[in-house]
Amino acid sequence: MKVLLLDIEGTTTSIAFVYETLFPYARAVFEATFAGRGALFERWDEPEVRAAVALMAGGAGQHGPHAAAGAALALMHADVKDTGLKALQGIIWRDGYRRGELRGHVFSDVAEALRLVSASGVRVAIYSSGSVEAQRLLFSFSDAGDLTPHLAAYFDTTTGPKKEAASYRAIAAELGVAPAEIRFCSDNLDEVRAAIAAGCEALVAVRPGNPPLPADHGLMTFSSLLDRRVTGIGSAT
Ligand SMILES: [Mg+2]
Repeated sequence: MKVLLLDIEGTTTSIAFVYETLFPYARAVFEATFAGRGALFERWDEPEVRAAVALMAGGAGQHGPHAAAGAALALMHADVKDTGLKALQGIIWRDGYRRGELRGHVFSDVAEALRLVSASGVRVAIYSSGSVEAQRLLFSFSDAGDLTPHLAAYFDTTTGPKKEAASYRAIAAELGVAPAEIRFCSDNLDEVRAAIAAGCEALVAVRPGNPPLPADHGLMTFSSLLDRRVTGIGSAT
């Protein structure tokens, strides 16, 4: 193994983090706008905030911060995948991490595993559907401290969909290794199968809060990134 490639949600981080921490934080910031507080209100005149709001469906950005906050809440409530909303949430989360109001959740074994693996000369990389910026923020401001010194590369879906083998070949090419030298870990069986189809090694993460796996999936599983089958380090247990 030359590269340990990790999914985030359900692998390094609880699936609930997005729904129980990140989304409520953004919602609270939008709601605070009506009271004349929070990042959207305070930073309304900044170009990146205006650019994000201008991208939001419905043109609410032309009518001031209250209208923009109302539109953002409606899009979140309806679970609409809106480019402008996503950009705005990204700004709000970055702000929250930097203010120390948000910390990226990682399971208790993650920091030690990243440290051990990177110290062994294996590069650790991330492949997640969240943007590369969101990935960097989560690991920079994680509840185990700044883990980015142990991370060599970040990939998101601009490289390709996570359930397609070609994406894993593209990552291997980008990192200058053969697919067989990559070990990929994810909670998603289709992602793991796609990585295997590309020639990678791949294992399935079993973590608290993940949906149960079907009994007959036939793939190798692990419940801690410190597992020797993940790190390649230490004695078999
Ligand atoms: Mg996942």
